[in-house]
Amino acid sequence: MTDISALAARLRFVLVRTSQPGNIGAAARAIRTMGFGRLVLVAPQRYPDPEATAFAAGADAVLDAAVIVPDLQTAVADCEAVYGATARQRAVALTEYTPREMVAPVRAAAAAGGEVALVFGNERTGLENDELALCHGAVHIPAAPDYSSLNLAQAVQVLAYELRVGFLDNPSAPPPRQADPPASAGLMEGFFEHLATALDDIDFHKGRSPTTIMLRLRKLFLRAQPDERELRVLRGILADAQRMARLAGSPGRTAAEPGDTPDGGL
Ligand code: SAH
Repeated sequence: MTDISALAARLRFVLVRTSQPGNIGAAARAIRTMGFGRLVLVAPQRYPDPEATAFAAGADAVLDAAVIVPDLQTAVADCEAVYGATARQRAVALTEYTPREMVAPVRAAAAAGGEVALVFGNERTGLENDELALCHGAVHIPAAPDYSSLNLAQAVQVLAYELRVGFLDNPSAPPPRQADPPASAGLMEGFFEHLATALDDIDFHKGRSPTTIMLRLRKLFLRAQPDERELRVLRGILADAQRMARLAGSPGRTAAEPGDTPDGGL
């Protein structure tokens, strides 16, 4: 068997606002049994806790190495692929995968050297919309539609299992992908903030709520997976649109202000 550790080194399991420490321990065990090891805890409600250690059943090394961060944005800032596990099929503006369908893109991103995150929500409330908005894809385990919510650690187990089986079935290299890796989640968030401001500046919304259009635009750009260079071009266009809007709104001004966002360097 070829080693799964190269994939494991790039893959983090992120548990968001977990309330039951037992689930953290059981998730650590689930991860460890499938040959993975990286756990990130976003604002856990009770941790460390003896219950977590008990449920880890010997997978203590995963718990000991777990990283604790205050919010999801911090947990995934350096990732180029972020998948949110959701118990509900919702009208989220995200491409939806089954765990099996998720395997190929996860492996491709990891094989190209990118960091990948699988994100799991709180036991009661799942992932909030603003947390899902940080994800590039949604993973839904096709459970019974009228009772589709698995226990958190069991959901972790299913995704980890699919990744392992996908690997064992085909340990050779995943399909080739674009030469330049997609921009990181942190850079994408910076772009989305810039886009939102620029749309305001050019009065795109005309009094309508920006929420829906921003979700649609997020889906479009996350699907396109622009690389860093492409993102700089887009930001250059936004900066120019903002500059023109300022000029149009201030008669008598003829020159751009120094210190404007750079034009993208292209
Ligand atoms: N009541 C919540 C469910 C929370 S279960 C809700 O309706 O959203 C805790 C977490 O386990 C979820 O946030 C999700 O990350 C994962 N999970 C549970 N069932 C799942 C399923 N069928 N598919 C994918 N993830 C699931």
